[in-house]
Amino acid sequence: MEKTERLYERDAYCASFCSTVLACEEHGGVLRAALATTAFYPEGGGQPADRGALGGARVVDVHEEDGVIWHTVTAPVRVGETVQGDIDWTRRFDHMQQHTGEHILSGIAHEQFGCENVGFGIGEDSVRIDFSLPMTDEMLALAEELANGIVQRNEPVTAEWPDPVRLSHLSYRSKKALEGPVRIVTAGSADVCACCGTHVARTGEVGLVKITSAQSYKGGTRVTIACGMRALEDYRRRHDAVHEISVLLSAKPDETPAAVRRVLDENAALHAQLAAAENARFEAEARTCRENVPALRVCEGLSGDSVRRFASSLAARCGLAAVLCRRGDGFSYAVCGAGAAELAARMNAALGGKGGGRGEFAQGSVSCTEESARAFFAAEGFDA
Ligand SMILES: [Zn+2]
Repeated sequence: MEKTERLYERDAYCASFCSTVLACEEHGGVLRAALATTAFYPEGGGQPADRGALGGARVVDVHEEDGVIWHTVTAPVRVGETVQGDIDWTRRFDHMQQHTGEHILSGIAHEQFGCENVGFGIGEDSVRIDFSLPMTDEMLALAEELANGIVQRNEPVTAEWPDPVRLSHLSYRSKKALEGPVRIVTAGSADVCACCGTHVARTGEVGLVKITSAQSYKGGTRVTIACGMRALEDYRRRHDAVHEISVLLSAKPDETPAAVRRVLDENAALHAQLAAAENARFEAEARTCRENVPALRVCEGLSGDSVRRFASSLAARCGLAAVLCRRGDGFSYAVCGAGAAELAARMNAALGGKGGGRGEFAQGSVSCTEESARAFFAAEGFDA
């Protein structure tokens, strides 16, 4: 079958076109159609496939195979007939904004820091770029600043197929060695790159390039960006979140970090106060125990840390102590004192528990009734 003529390569803004159906067949459980020419972009180079309509059918995916572009369609189109193709333009233009933003940022990262773009993907929720080198916050901030300068200068974005001689003198970014005619995309003064994707005509249409996250990845940096309307959506989400925090804490939006820190500090102080009050109660309870006689206490509503401190207070007087705290159908436990780990192992075996410890401390949980727990500890010589 003859190769499909790709309208999007010369005119990324072609959203509607007419073409002759060359084939329509079932393949791998789906129906697919090939045309003489198409404006539908097939998945590739990190850019997702277009969606839209072909005649009366919906186009739900687009792939290239040996130069032929196959449209996955929801209904048959008749071979030999001329059909109209309509691209989901909102979706495509979003891809063009993200893709061009990626070129600008990658070109700048390459020029400024020698970073290679080693991975790129436009997802539904985020746009990912993998750079080959570690990047500090300062480097990322500078790259973002410079990228938005290019956007504001509204520079032209062009695609061309230079002849071999000119190509051999051209310095451009490329992920792999290329054969045959190479499509060179120039994104203003920021980037020259071999690319098959679709781009906006001028950098201003990108709107905004915002780095939304960055993390170390395989010795380099994985960056996520949001461009155009995605950047606005991201801004709205974050604005709403900050607004909600600001209302909850009665703080001005710009002062929310300090307000959150204050709440965390207060929380830590309250925790410390609560622990001190609990410790006083645990020690008072310990004084009611007989000295050097293993003791058991059953309680409820204590945190794991409180249960551990309670057992430790009791053990200081009794030598060996266990605290059970009701949780659901069973108990969490802490055992403290001489032989605690061995006792926990026997308790797990007898009462269907799990967990354990080392030496003089063990913790875990058991699923049993209070009666059977008390019976076990009584048999172990506890004051239960
Ligand atoms: Zn591109």
